[in-house]
Amino acid sequence: MINQTYDVVVIGGGVAGAASLYALASFTDLKRVALVEKYPRVASVNSKATNNSQTIHCGDIETNYTLEKALKVRRSAQMLVRYAEQLPPRLRDQIIHRFPKMVLGVGVQECEFLQQRYETFKPHFTGMHLLDKTQIADIEPSVVNVNGHDRPEELVAIAVPDEYTAINYGTLAQSFVEQAQSVAGKTVDLKLGHAVQIIEPVGSNYRITTSAGSMMARFVVVSAGGHSLLFAHRMGIGLNYSCLPIAGNFYFTPQVLNGKVYTVQNDKLPFAAIHGDPDITLPGRTRFGPTALPLPLLERNNLQTLVDYLEVLKLDRTVIGVLWDLFKVRDIRNYIFKNMAFEVPLLDRHLFLKDARKIVPSLQLEDLEFAEGVGGVRPQLIDRTQCKLILGQAEIDPGNGIRFNITPSPGATTCLGNAEQDLLRIQQHLGCNFDRTWFEAERVPVSQSAWARS
Ligand SMILES: Cc1cc2nc3c(=O)[nH]c(=O)nc-3n(C[C@H](O)[C@H](O)[C@H](O)COP(=O)(O)OP(=O)(O)OC[C@H]3O[C@@H](n4cnc5c(N)ncnc54)[C@H](O)[C@@H]3O)c2cc1C
Repeated sequence: MINQTYDVVVIGGGVAGAASLYALASFTDLKRVALVEKYPRVASVNSKATNNSQTIHCGDIETNYTLEKALKVRRSAQMLVRYAEQLPPRLRDQIIHRFPKMVLGVGVQECEFLQQRYETFKPHFTGMHLLDKTQIADIEPSVVNVNGHDRPEELVAIAVPDEYTAINYGTLAQSFVEQAQSVAGKTVDLKLGHAVQIIEPVGSNYRITTSAGSMMARFVVVSAGGHSLLFAHRMGIGLNYSCLPIAGNFYFTPQVLNGKVYTVQNDKLPFAAIHGDPDITLPGRTRFGPTALPLPLLERNNLQTLVDYLEVLKLDRTVIGVLWDLFKVRDIRNYIFKNMAFEVPLLDRHLFLKDARKIVPSLQLEDLEFAEGVGGVRPQLIDRTQCKLILGQAEIDPGNGIRFNITPSPGATTCLGNAEQDLLRIQQHLGCNFDRTWFEAERVPVSQSAWARS
């Protein structure tokens, strides 16, 4: 039975879908919108606080970002902070958190790389400081000290000492929904426990059939992680993409860090270098990770998504060719083997310890505890036409009133920036009004570094 017709239905109640719902309710004159989520709560998958790295990515300490990408991501990151700061302080403090952050260079080569990067980025990121070993120790003593002495390697860090750097994407998603539902004079429906089964065009609209009834929509935004691609494929759209899910696990230690400490990324493996940081859901613990291992599931802890994975992988000669090309690169091959070994009991902690000691050299095996049930899956896409792995996010927009967002990292940071893009397309298609003023209010965070010596 079809019981409702909406202007826009958003499928997927992660932070991406919730941000689009918030933006639709707050900044357009559309009167009827809905968010459809298969689980009983929003943000139950990758946007759940425990399942990602809880980082507001700005590109300043992510060495795999070019300056151009960093500036783009930072614009979205600023929107998150601006959104949270306009909430009452009690709510704001459940969402964003201030910690120092840095990217650490270890050894001559990485230190030279960071020094050069600092020169390029500093004019654009005014809160950034280049730190020597002593200055690093002032913020993060455990990164430098081993048994009362400084570690021997050369160390340099690019640091941002006083900005909002950590975020609970779960409470953020929940807050987006609450804010959307508080807009007067609109119908903003949240349909939890509704697993979407079929999306099909009916005239110029779409019928969405879920496990708990159907609805019609004039425009559909699908933000269902790797499942976005599955829905697209089932409609004969986006067939030039396959999905390669990359799982990320974490390890806990006692508190050894005061803030976020990232490490220099390998250009061939952009999300592979681990970091350590305080876990905002578990005060008193430090979390190291994530690992990165191809996993045949679209959701980390849902074995039923194996079948969905096989459908979106679309394994054929092209995909095998791309995977083989990746495997032929020595760094990637070794990295895959290493991450497979991370999954072998007993061996896992020994191997991970080696990586974690790059950040905190005094860590011992007994300090490390595998973070059970923590971590998620990044739905990376393979472009079958260009025969290559896409490392960022993607949207598939055939231009006929439906849009599919597939958002691996930094897709949570960019949720409001992506919502802005959704709204531009919706405005174009439905002819509604979209007040973009809020999105365009640029605001560069101010650094108040009392300690900085540079
Ligand atoms: C280990 C790891 C670390 C990360 N760290 C960061 C970080 O620090 N910063 C950052 O910006 N990004 C990070 N990311 C990426 C970030 O987690 C994602 O970009 C973000 O959570 C994506 O949000 P989403 O709403 O698109 O997806 P999800 O949060 O996965 O939500 C998709 C939703 O769609 C729903 N859904 C699926 N199928 C259906 C259906 N049939 N019917 C109804 N609903 C459906 C799901 O239940 C789910 O709620 C990380 C990712 C991983 C794996």
